Amino acid sequence: MQKLIIYYSKTPFNSFIANNFQSKIISFILSLLILAIPVQAKNLKVMVFAAHPDDELIGCGGSMRKHINLGNDVRVVYLTSGEAGNLKYSKEKLAGIREKEAENGLGILGVKDFSFLRNKDGYLEANSENLIKMVELIRKYKPDIVYLPHSEEAHQDHRATYDLVTKAINKAKGNWFQEAPGKAWQVKNIFSYEIYPLQKAVNYCEDITTFMNLKDTALKEHKSQIESIAYDDLAKSIGRYRGILSNGTEYAECFQVIRIDDIFH
Ligand SMILES: [Zn+2]
Repeated sequence: MQKLIIYYSKTPFNSFIANNFQSKIISFILSLLILAIPVQAKNLKVMVFAAHPDDELIGCGGSMRKHINLGNDVRVVYLTSGEAGNLKYSKEKLAGIREKEAENGLGILGVKDFSFLRNKDGYLEANSENLIKMVELIRKYKPDIVYLPHSEEAHQDHRATYDLVTKAINKAKGNWFQEAPGKAWQVKNIFSYEIYPLQKAVNYCEDITTFMNLKDTALKEHKSQIESIAYDDLAKSIGRYRGILSNGTEYAECFQVIRIDDIFH
C-alpha cells in the first residue's frame, strides 16, 4: 500500500491526500481555494451524473446533502434506469421500481430535481446521440460543479458515463458545437466519485460524518438492489475506510479532482 500524506484544514471541505511533492503543492493551492467556500458557496448549481439509480448515493450522497445545507441547487441525471440490476423482475417492471426508489432516496436526501435519460442498462454508449443530449443538458442547467463516476470504475456503464460527461463538458464550453442548442457554458469544478473498486487516484476527501445516517437511510430505499447485494453496508464501509484515512474523521467520501477553478473568489 502506498504511504499516504494527509493534509487537514478545519473547513467543511477538509482533507487532502497526496503521495508526492507535486500533489502537495496542488493540495495546498486547492486548500486555499476551498477555504472560501463557506462564505461564498451559496447559489451554486451542482449536477450529479449517475449511470444507475443508487450510484449517486453511494458515490457522493453525503456531499450532495452538504451542498444542500450550503444553499446549493442539486440536480441528478440518471443515464439508465438500472433495469438490469436484478433477475427477479422483468426489465420493464424493474425500470419503474428503480425510478421510484431513486425518487424516494433523493427525497430523503432533499434533492427535488432529477431526470432519467433511459439508456439501455449494461449497454451505455458514449455515442454522438448521447453526447448531444448531455451537452444540451449542461448548457441548459449551467452547473458550477459536476460530479461523475471515476474513469476507472469496474462497471462499463460507469466508465461510459465518465466518457460522455467529460466529452460533453468539453463540447459545451465552446461556440463551435452547434448540434446542441444553448449558449456555451464552462463547467469550472469537476469531481469523480468512487463506487467499485476503491480508487487509487483520489486526491480530495470530504467529511460526511454528519450525513452518514441520512445517506444510509436514503440508500435503503433501493430495496430491489439491497435485497441481493448489501450496497448500504458497502457504502458505509467505504465511508468508514475513507474516514479513517482522512485524518481520522468518522466517515468520508473521496474524489479525484478533475478540475477546480476560482469561482469561489
Ligand atoms: Zn452503477
